[in-house]
Amino acid sequence: MKQFDVAIVGGGIAGLVASIDLAREGKSVVLFEKSSQLGGRAISVKKNGAFDQLYETAVRSGVSVITGKNATEIEHDGAVRKIKFADGQEMDVTHVISATPPAVTSRLLGAAGCKSVLRWKEQARAIEAASLTLSLKRLSAPDHFAVLGLDQPVYFINQSKFTRLSEDGASVVNITKANGTGGTDAKADERFLERTLDLIQPGWRKEVVARQYLPHIAVAYDFMNAGREDRFPGPAVPEIAGLYVAGEWATHGENLADAAAASGRRAVRRVLKDMEAVRSGRETILV
Ligand SMILES: Cc1cc2nc3c(=O)[nH]c(=O)nc-3n(C[C@H](O)[C@H](O)[C@H](O)COP(=O)(O)OP(=O)(O)OC[C@H]3O[C@@H](n4cnc5c(N)ncnc54)[C@H](O)[C@@H]3O)c2cc1C
Repeated sequence: MKQFDVAIVGGGIAGLVASIDLAREGKSVVLFEKSSQLGGRAISVKKNGAFDQLYETAVRSGVSVITGKNATEIEHDGAVRKIKFADGQEMDVTHVISATPPAVTSRLLGAAGCKSVLRWKEQARAIEAASLTLSLKRLSAPDHFAVLGLDQPVYFINQSKFTRLSEDGASVVNITKANGTGGTDAKADERFLERTLDLIQPGWRKEVVARQYLPHIAVAYDFMNAGREDRFPGPAVPEIAGLYVAGEWATHGENLADAAAASGRRAVRRVLKDMEAVRSGRETILV
């Protein structure tokens, strides 16, 4: 496999932002995404959205993007050595940004693992939501395109108001109930979302073309919570030279997509600083 200055695992917002920043700094970058599409959890806003622009910018900046490539291990011995993939391929590499959830990053480090990443994984408190997406032939109340609950943490959006999401003119709408750190009943949530939709789009049940209900979708894999021992996880993994983390869970105070983008940028700044320290013979001070 061709050699790169930096490999990024995970093609969500965090990985894409990191890849663009590195390429713009003149580094050769490869980004591996296990799915056939990039975007991660931002995929639902893919069409004509900010995410498309990120992808196009990455490719224009010279990032090598490889989809359908599932990383199974980041081999290390105090320093990053190689990445292994599910298809049996391997790549020698000295700098890796893992822009995947904390549990995935931890798994990639194999049996030897590493204390910091294990701690970030174990102390993470995911924020969940129950989400119902529907494709509707007709909307009874087209003016109701965005609704925010005041007494309940629920929001509705007619995504088709802002971008074309269907070929046949159907409206794609989503209603989501934020569930904090989870523990809610999937069936009860589904009934609640349906009843709320009765108020927003009366008669919607007769108009359904397609439907997807995700009862426990992870909106964030972690946030700045009081149970965190490390207030600021990453970007560098202290025990493994050349390994960095990014993703909205590695927030230093930002939220959601902002946190994903900011963490990617933070990882890049640290990679560049470490590379410069090695080049000039200085050691990096870990903070
Ligand atoms: C229902 C919902 C609504 C949301 N609404 C908003 C909103 O209104 N505003 C907002 O700011 N944010 C919102 N968010 C949050 C936002 O979408 C996320 O914070 C952001 O997309 C996270 O990006 P990320 O790059 O950190 O992670 P992800 O998008 O999860 O990216 C990680 C990527 O890594 C890949 N990957 C994992 N393991 C491997 C492996 N072994 N090898 C290769 N690739 C791998 C995954 O396939 C994935 O593409 C919402 C999220 C959800 C789920």
